[in-house]
Amino acid sequence: MTLRAEYDEDNIFAKILRAEMPAVKLYEDEHTLAFMDVFPQSPGHSLIIPKKPARNILEADAHSLCHTMATTKKVAMAIEKALSPDGLIVTQLNGAPAGQTVFHLHFHIIPRYLGKVILNHANGRMADIAELEDISAQIRSAL
Ligand code: 5GP
Repeated sequence: MTLRAEYDEDNIFAKILRAEMPAVKLYEDEHTLAFMDVFPQSPGHSLIIPKKPARNILEADAHSLCHTMATTKKVAMAIEKALSPDGLIVTQLNGAPAGQTVFHLHFHIIPRYLGKVILNHANGRMADIAELEDISAQIRSAL
């Protein structure tokens, strides 16, 4: 996949948006959706996506991007309140050579805890869904 290609309506996040695939959701509004990463790099790893299709930041219009950033901040504040991390990584990858593996624009929020190593990106280690549900309930209650 390069930076410039057709948007694939069957990418996993498009399917989550259409409720064809499950997700542990954190927050949803007219323009955005936030949910737990199912292969978390650390406890609380969350993803924020625009509802409007865009493969990456180059394709997103400013309006959609602004809403996505506002939701990213909202979720980051809730993660801080709920999980008390020592740091937060907010990141976003564009194109396979940059490490992007799902081609619907998304921002990662990855909590960091002092003395705790985070797992690799796209590590393929699926979280226990009950644990994800528990963490997501804590984050949702802090929104
Ligand atoms: P990227 O590599 O595109 O920056 O990030 C894609 C992220 O989506 C990865 O962190 C990966 O763990 C996550 N991911 C991949 N498939 C699924 C899925 O089916 N559900 C959820 N919730 N996250 C996924």
